[in-house]
Amino acid sequence: MSISGKALCAGVAGWPVSHSLSPRLHNHWLKAHGVDGAYVPLAIPREHLAEALKGLRLAGFKGVNLTIPHKEAAFSLAHKLDAAAQAAGAVNLLIFREDGTLEGRNTDAEGLGESLRTAGIALSDKPATLLGAGGAARATILALDAIGAGEIRILNRHADRAATLANTLAPFVKAKLKPLAMNDWPAAARDTGLLVNATSAGMKGQPVLDLQLDPLPTSAAVCDLIYNPLETALLKNAKARGHKTVDGLGMLMYQAAPSFAAFYGVTPKVTPELRAELERALQT
Ligand code: NAP
Repeated sequence: MSISGKALCAGVAGWPVSHSLSPRLHNHWLKAHGVDGAYVPLAIPREHLAEALKGLRLAGFKGVNLTIPHKEAAFSLAHKLDAAAQAAGAVNLLIFREDGTLEGRNTDAEGLGESLRTAGIALSDKPATLLGAGGAARATILALDAIGAGEIRILNRHADRAATLANTLAPFVKAKLKPLAMNDWPAAARDTGLLVNATSAGMKGQPVLDLQLDPLPTSAAVCDLIYNPLETALLKNAKARGHKTVDGLGMLMYQAAPSFAAFYGVTPKVTPELRAELERALQT
């Protein structure tokens, strides 16, 4: 693939950014769809985000994705926000419009919803249980609502954060949000249709999630948002008990698709080849 003088440019802004899989992901699609474009990592310190965005826009970039620590600052800098960004209080996609405005979107909920749907998971008013109350938990609540959860039980190590999250997200969803503490797990698990881990416990370098799956009916699906490692201890245990499982790589791929469409004007396909390339990248 060659990059011409007319190439469409975009990238991912983070600090640090070297761990990001987004360049691999978008460059896979650029090649697969024969797009004259480039997608690059943008290492931007927190205090320079606003001026770096201005420079990228003036240099003709179509927009950027945002990762840690820029998602909340990008939310404040956007001139227009979609409903998902408003609910999340964070932006992972900024589109540079021709009139000079910044359009902020959050595609994490859409990405998780699509990942769950393609795995054949629908809740049809059943309860779902969510572990965690951080940034990813916000997107998870929207996704669980979109796939038909009747009630979302939110369990967090610090229970007060679960209560705050439920209050903040309640106006955005149809599902009933029920904040609980971690020790409410056995009661919460009993009739749940889907368990989602949106904590960072189980991530490479972090302690393993301390959770006994015994109270969970085997009919319940188990999803972990973590993709490094791809098979967390939670997913391994769930598989061994016969639960349907979904790892975090699907969410990562599907949340990137709307960004690619916005930057390059082509709706990309999530394929087994893309997944294989990302799995290889995770192993190195
Ligand atoms: P965050 O805002 O820092 O929140 C971390 C959450 O994990 C908090 O609820 C925290 O509880 C909880 N936690 C941390 N250590 C714990 C432990 N040892 N036991 C129980 N709970 C613990 O992080 P985030 O941005 O929401 O990300 C959470 C996870 O989602 C990360 O692993 C991230 O990689 C993953 N993620 C994946 C995708 C994807 O595309 N697949 C997208 C976004 C995020 P307290 O509130 O009690 O501290």
